[in-house]
Amino acid sequence: MGKSVSLRKLPSMTQLLESLEKESLPRPLVVAVARDVLAGLRRKKTASGFAAIASAVHEQLRVLEQSRLQPVINATGVLIHTNLGRAPLSKEVMRQVAECATQYNNLEFELTGGTRGQRGGYLEAGLATLCGAEASAAVNNCAAALVLVLRHLASGEKTEVIVSRGELVQIGGGFRIPDILESSGARLREVGTTNKTSLIDYARSISPKTALILKVHRSNFFMEGFVESPVFPELAQLASRKKIPLVEDLGSGALFRTDCISGLEAERTPDQSLKEGADLVLFSGDKLFGGPQAGIIAGSRRMIAGLKNEPFFRAVRCDKLVLAALQATVESYLTAPEPFKAGQVQLLEMISASTDVLEERARSILSNVGRIKEIELGFESSQARLGGGTLPRSSLPSVALSVRSAGKKAGEILSALRRNRPPIIGYIHRECVFLNLRTVFPEQDVLLIAALKALAD
Ligand SMILES: *Cc1c(COP(=O)(O)O)cnc(C)c1O
Repeated sequence: MGKSVSLRKLPSMTQLLESLEKESLPRPLVVAVARDVLAGLRRKKTASGFAAIASAVHEQLRVLEQSRLQPVINATGVLIHTNLGRAPLSKEVMRQVAECATQYNNLEFELTGGTRGQRGGYLEAGLATLCGAEASAAVNNCAAALVLVLRHLASGEKTEVIVSRGELVQIGGGFRIPDILESSGARLREVGTTNKTSLIDYARSISPKTALILKVHRSNFFMEGFVESPVFPELAQLASRKKIPLVEDLGSGALFRTDCISGLEAERTPDQSLKEGADLVLFSGDKLFGGPQAGIIAGSRRMIAGLKNEPFFRAVRCDKLVLAALQATVESYLTAPEPFKAGQVQLLEMISASTDVLEERARSILSNVGRIKEIELGFESSQARLGGGTLPRSSLPSVALSVRSAGKKAGEILSALRRNRPPIIGYIHRECVFLNLRTVFPEQDVLLIAALKALAD
């Protein structure tokens, strides 16, 4: 029968591995992939030539290798790029992380008494100060913060969470407010309509089952035209009169006045939300705040203490690396009179770079690359965006290199740049490849120069 004949034709593992001696990936991974490919062929009962099998293994190893977490150059002009790791951290923040991580530290140790202590005391005080809050806590991400808050506040008889129909949003891949609510055991009580929700809508939906009122930042879109929602202080008054907690999920969490930067609209800050009467605010650590992935909760001392006592808190708490990075980021906000110029919050430095400087860099890159065969290089003014579901209406002026070729399609150039080490991620606009310099660090310019020169090969 065909089966035994074809199986005999499969090369042995030893043979196959010998041919893969030069592979750069760790040997156990090469062996595992080779074994997988052979097993697949055996299952399908098909025979292939040795070269074809070796090349199938090789291809799978390349697929695996490209998924290895590695630095890339973000030339997309999207500052908080969710696919590219959101906010990058500064060298100074990482120096402090490394210092704590490579040594023992006082993570849960009280140095004065020499006894067991709490995590993050200093960090929480700093965050609370920045947010104008009585207290604060940090967890794994903003989604976790929301689940924790819902689990804590929606329990027993009170399980209903009131949310406007205009705020039942999806953020990025798979984060949907109604699903998050359901998964935390709360019951969604929708009020109003997509475009209009009034104070009366909220008032009418309050019942003995109401656990909290949740306001959600729309984040990645905006509504214009025939729209209405109650002003926040009025909603806060209603909540306080009815003794119902009011929680605002701010999403991006800017701790600076975004409208001080030309091109950016005003983003509601945690401080503003609490001043206007929210009991708790939640936001991400790695969006406009410019820190590591985290979910920050700030507000009433009593509620924060309750949250930290939840058994679930343990499941979503931050590890020492994140706490160290958050602490360094918080400190740079606290100590810098002008966080933009501090050079410690990498994101803010990129946001505030002047277009003159970007243009200067573009000229210098072009003159360093010189002429390349069949490639036409230039630069022009362009726009950068915040991304990450923040400030969808805003853009920052920027400068982008343009790369055209008579012989190559834009898509081919783009993918050649992605194959560069480190990979360079650009974009196509008007059938031309653009490399936006606002998201490229100045020290990466030499890498861009080398990659552009290599396009000629
Ligand atoms: C981004 C966002 C989240 C999710 O934050 P993560 O830190 O990614 O979990 C939650 N709510 C809103 C409104 C957001 O914009």
